[in-house]
Amino acid sequence: MSVLTLLVDESTLIKMTAFYADHLQKTPQHARFQAKIPNCTITAYNSKKVVFQGNLAETEAQLWQQFSGNSQAVKKSDAPPASLAPKWDLATCIGCDESGVGDYFGPVTAACILIPQTDVERIRALGITDSKKMTDSIICQLAPLLMAEFPHAITLLPNSKYNHLQAQGIHGHMMKTLLHNQALTKLLQENQCQYDYIIMDQFVNERAYYRYFDKLKVTPILGLSFLPKAESHCVAVAAASVLARYTYVKAMEKLAEKLGESLPKGANQRVDQFAAQLISKHGLEFLDQYAKIHFATTQKAIVLTR
Ligand code: MN
Repeated sequence: MSVLTLLVDESTLIKMTAFYADHLQKTPQHARFQAKIPNCTITAYNSKKVVFQGNLAETEAQLWQQFSGNSQAVKKSDAPPASLAPKWDLATCIGCDESGVGDYFGPVTAACILIPQTDVERIRALGITDSKKMTDSIICQLAPLLMAEFPHAITLLPNSKYNHLQAQGIHGHMMKTLLHNQALTKLLQENQCQYDYIIMDQFVNERAYYRYFDKLKVTPILGLSFLPKAESHCVAVAAASVLARYTYVKAMEKLAEKLGESLPKGANQRVDQFAAQLISKHGLEFLDQYAKIHFATTQKAIVLTR
């Protein structure tokens, strides 16, 4: 069992009080609150020291260390040697990831999925990892298995809508935020989700993420943990990356059917050439339903048609 102490600021303490509201225990003397979650007991003292005890102490403390720039670990005892990789896979997580962001053709997709802690090892054994390290054909075999078994939600932003939002000043990060929030809202509304963390593969920091909602005019899901390269640290995020990529690949198949030939993925010279062909054949407007128009690809393709 690990014991870890953090010194936090008042705003973090307020956040923590709200965050653990559903897990409160009888408050010990000199404490602000005590909460118990699976594998960790959290005691916050009036001195602003917060003690984490249990097998997940390190993971839990790291979460809050991230949340508050001023927090510092003041003491660590009985813990194994410091490991930088948080043990997210010892918890039940909802993972969130997206796909199609860097691809000129096709939509942006987002997915979230809940993987219970008891299934983590089995999911890893299936070969679920960062979708960027998997082939599309393996992804198309595994994604349906995940979808059949675990609560999940998927959102897709078609190209014409993407282009419309982009023209209104809603940039890529904001669109991702919107898609993730829609997916999470749907997942939590439609399922009785018991989970320890919601882990977002970090594309912006927490503050920027929540600031976007001023402009987006939708209600944000709170309590997310933002983790860089989360696909490698948390199997639920890896599974979400697989679902998001699967949705992107399937959407590209549909676009290919509509067009009568398949479209290249990514953004490279082949993509420039293909876009130029489409412009020559059908005109620039035609790209609106197939591509992310604001990419430099569009200008390169226009030059190629001359
Ligand atoms: Mn990602």
